[in-house]
Amino acid sequence: MMVDSSKGAKGILLTQIKQDFVTPANAIFDYLDIVEKAVSKLDLQSEDELNQIKSSCNKLINQYEEAFNLYTGSGSEGKKTPEEYSELRHNLRTPLNAIIGYGEILIEDFEEDIPESRTRRIIINDLKHIIELARETEKAIEVFVDFIRGDENKSDDGDASQVETAEALFKSLGDIEHSITLSDELKSSDILIVDDNKTNCEVLERRLSMSGLKCRTAYDGESALDEVKKKTPDLILLDVILPDINGLELLKRFRSKHSVESLPVIMVSAFDDVDSIAKCIQLGAQDYLPKPINGTVLLAKVVSSLERKLLREREKELVNELHIQATTDQLTGIANRRVIFDTLEDAVSREKRKDYKPFAIIVFDIDFFKNVNDTYGHAGGDEVLKSFARLLDSEITQPNQVGRIGGEEFLAILYMDNASLEAFAKNLIEKIQQNVVKYEDTEISISASGGVAFSEESKSSSDLVNKADKRLYKAKKSGRNRFILIDSEIVGE
Ligand code: GH3
Ligand code: MG
Ligand code: MG
Repeated sequence: MMVDSSKGAKGILLTQIKQDFVTPANAIFDYLDIVEKAVSKLDLQSEDELNQIKSSCNKLINQYEEAFNLYTGSGSEGKKTPEEYSELRHNLRTPLNAIIGYGEILIEDFEEDIPESRTRRIIINDLKHIIELARETEKAIEVFVDFIRGDENKSDDGDASQVETAEALFKSLGDIEHSITLSDELKSSDILIVDDNKTNCEVLERRLSMSGLKCRTAYDGESALDEVKKKTPDLILLDVILPDINGLELLKRFRSKHSVESLPVIMVSAFDDVDSIAKCIQLGAQDYLPKPINGTVLLAKVVSSLERKLLREREKELVNELHIQATTDQLTGIANRRVIFDTLEDAVSREKRKDYKPFAIIVFDIDFFKNVNDTYGHAGGDEVLKSFARLLDSEITQPNQVGRIGGEEFLAILYMDNASLEAFAKNLIEKIQQNVVKYEDTEISISASGGVAFSEESKSSSDLVNKADKRLYKAKKSGRNRFILIDSEIVGE
């Protein structure tokens, strides 16, 4: 690249001039590749023409590279004659005309030979694209020739050793492997391509869609922000240079709302110097793709990024699932014994802290539950347990908590004073009685008893539970369907 360490304005301008040629020229290869694949399935004799286009495109790029080095490299000598410039223009136009010519021939042939179908429309469309791209390179050649002709000082800040050679360019084109098969889960990923060059967007989109991946596109920073706002994509392919907000700034904005894990970004740019790459990575880009894009590298990086994201998501789901399993009671879905006892321990230990609040606990036990099992079977008993838990769970809300501590025993932690607890207990006893459980053809009604203890009574959680248990026992002995608060206070009798 012409961007040397000094990065003079001229160096950047030259990079742009070259890029305006290299981008459509490389895209021709991309479209050729796609056409070749489609045509090979149809068994048409068009190999010769396609090869002609390919070799002409090779010739075109080689000649451009040669001229670019010759006229802008450090070794370039004095100003050329007008004849030399027109010769250069002519030399570059020869392969260009071949590309356009063969492209038009193939369109005519295919219109005759292939019956009207979606495939035909796609192939012809791609050939038209090739012709359009060739015309784009023609314009870029004009700009290039005009630039060097008007350039009195020549390029004294260019470094020939840094000029990308044709060899390197072709090496990066490589052979393209499309045989990677992706899982349906990966194929349903949502990729956002952000590039102001529509051809780049389209080539990327086509390449990825050939592997079954779906993409959205944005041609500037603002639309990219809108797209991400609409729905966070699984991956962004982000061009460094955009017309409104530059890619690095855009990356910063994405990072202010989304982590590297939740929104992976792969930077795409012609600037392949290490500093830019390092900066992108520091700003939270996950990876980097140099232009011109190599199809195999593109797919490998995209797939690896999407796979890593999927794995992270699965891992998260698994951890969540394990957490739920470890903290909820399987039958009723409310907090299990461990959680409610831990919560109680926590509530007690707050005593020494500023955020301490007094509380009460109730140990509940369903009355004559054995009879429910005996009459309706274990399944009937389970339905009663689930319904009872649901009722407690809807009546006991944050910051209060409830959990199942054993067969038909439950523990609640309630941040209430004596008076409100009494009202709460009265109301709950009624609701338990009114809560009729429909099971098969019958309706099951139950009652429950409860023992209460207040945090002021002890600083130890086991002490509190013992006290509540004792009162529960008293409630059972004195007739059930009642809560005993402090030893003398009975609610529900
Ligand atoms: P009391 O009024 O004195 O509490 O009498 P009770 O019958 O409710 O008490 P007991 O402790 O004698 O019986 C509790 C029964 O609960 C015994 C046990 O089989 C049953 N049980 C425990 N866990 C479950 C469960 O998960 N599902 C079902 N269906 N029954 C359970
Ligand atoms: Mg019981
Ligand atoms: Mg019991």
